[in-house]
Formats: sequence, structure tokens, C-alpha cells
Amino acid sequence: MIDVRDLVVSYGTATALEHVTLNVGKGEMVALLGPNGAGKSTLANTLAGLLKPVSGTVEIGGRLALIPEGRQLFPDLSVADNLALGGWRSGERDPSFVYDLLPRLTSLARRQAGVLSGGEQQMVAFGRAMMSRPSVLVVDELSLGLAPNVTADLADHLAELNRSQGLTVLLIEQNARLAFDLCQRAYVLEAGRVGAEGACADLAEDP
Ligand code: ADP
Ligand code: ADP
Repeated sequence: MIDVRDLVVSYGTATALEHVTLNVGKGEMVALLGPNGAGKSTLANTLAGLLKPVSGTVEIGGRLALIPEGRQLFPDLSVADNLALGGWRSGERDPSFVYDLLPRLTSLARRQAGVLSGGEQQMVAFGRAMMSRPSVLVVDELSLGLAPNVTADLADHLAELNRSQGLTVLLIEQNARLAFDLCQRAYVLEAGRVGAEGACADLAEDP
């Protein structure tokens, strides 16, 4: 569903991704790990079409949605209006299926997005991404700034969508434990290059 080959992405003269090759198969949950500045968000934004590669190829085998780093909601709008904006590109107007997927959003619908807790805002960003009925979801830092129990709840919903709908997931995480728990395979990005890749079970054994 995601096929990235020999990808190079730069900001002006600064190269953020150097010859990155990775792939995510249909129905897989794959983690992308790496320290701050490694290029993870650059990859996410390139997959979402927000950044243009210098060279290399990106092929996406279905509709892709992104949960961006830091949620990036419209803080002054209601949750319902934030969700509606997620359906804008696909023409989806009825958010009721998203309330079924993420029932917690039902009671938040009329609340102003900007005053919600971090976990609630991440749930809204999740719902907004699902509004486009994606077959591939890229999640940029699910756990960022969230308590472990809040993160676990969001992770359960991701795993359930993967199980029930075959949703393909690329999970970009600083929290390797979470990534290893959720994903079968992982790539580790270091300074713009893939430094390691393999089954999570093998990577987790590394010292
Ligand atoms: P990560 O998501 O792994 O923290 P990023 O993709 O955000 O890494 O950043 C990769 C590199 O690109 C870093 O060196 C960062 O400073 C640089 N970078 C990111 N965004 C920009 C930008 N808008 N302009 C210039 N450099 C950027
Ligand atoms: P968490 O326990 O996840 O850190 P918070 O303590 O931030 O959550 O928020 C707890 C509840 O209070 C949430 O339902 C949140 O929406 C609500 N809340 C937080 N800040 C405000 C605010 N400034 N105005 C109204 N409601 C708020």
C-alpha cells in the first residue's frame, strides 16, 4: 500500500531524507522509529503529498490519510466541524460512521476543539482522518504528550480498525515500546537514512 523507493527530500539545501526505501503491505501495521530530527515527519508529509521529493518514487495503493504531528485541529471550531473538514476532499458529509468507530467523539461533538484534553484532541484528529475513509493511515506521533493510559486507548482503536477493516497503518513513534506492541515490522530512521529494519520481535531484542 505504501511503496517508497530511493526517496530524497530536501528543505532548500538541507537534505532531510537520503535514499529512503520502505514499504508497507496491505493490512500491515508498520512502525517508523527514530530520534528527533531523523526525518520522520518529512516522510509523513511527503507520503501525504505535502512535500515534493527531489528524487525517488512514492506509490500509495489507496486513499491515504494523515494524523499530523501535534493534531493540528482548528481550535476555535467544534469537534463536529473539525470532523466535517476531514471529509472535504472525499466529499463525505455524514460523520455518523466516525462516531460509530470512535464512540467517545459523540459526546464531544459540540465542544470547541481547542479546549479539549490532549487525548481528546488526538481522538478528534483520528476521527478527522477516518472521515476520508482511508485504506492507509499514517499516524505521526500518536503518543506525543499523552499519558500512557490515554495512548493505550487510542492504540486499541487503531488495532481494532486494523483487525476489522484491514486498515493499513504506518505508525511514526518516539515510543518504541508502543510501536513494538502494535506493529509487526519497523524501520528505524537515523539522520535521514534507514538505519535498521526488521520484525519488531527481532528489533526489540537489540540492546
Ligand atoms: P522528525 O520528524 O524525525 O523529528 P523532521 O522530518 O521533522 O524529523 O526533520 C528532519 C530534518 O529536517 C531536521 O534536520 C529538521 O531540522 C529539518 N526540517 C524539518 N522541517 C523543516 C523545514 N520546514 N525547513 C527546514 N528544515 C526542516
Ligand atoms: P487530561 O486528564 O487528559 O490531561 P485535562 O485535565 O486537560 O485532561 O482535561 C480534563 C477535561 O477538562 C477534559 O474533558 C477537557 O476537555 C476539559 N477541559 C480542559 N481544559 C478546558 C478549558 N480550558 N475549558 C473547558 N474545558 C476544559
